[in-house]
Amino acid sequence: MAIDLDDRGRALENEYFRRQEQELIEKMKAKIGTEDSHKTEIQCPKCDGTLHETDYENIKIDVCDKCTGIWLDAGELAQIAHKDTEGGWFGKVFG
Ligand SMILES: [Zn+2]
Repeated sequence: MAIDLDDRGRALENEYFRRQEQELIEKMKAKIGTEDSHKTEIQCPKCDGTLHETDYENIKIDVCDKCTGIWLDAGELAQIAHKDTEGGWFGKVFG
């Protein structure tokens, strides 16, 4: 009888963890889904072109494939300006 109760307890415990695991997987899937859709289709704020993420010295910049506009997230401008204060392409464009 004691053994039966133990088994039942273990079964409930397994079910509990299985459900938690399932919830976690669903949350991760949802997160991955939104990140994917965000990454693949970013429209240029200036024209109807698409922005493509490019690395510039380990800083992610978004370049439009139509008007070749360059878009930066908050803080990225400061990072590039800091790295490229003298003589770089960024200094020439904005200096
Ligand atoms: Zn554009």
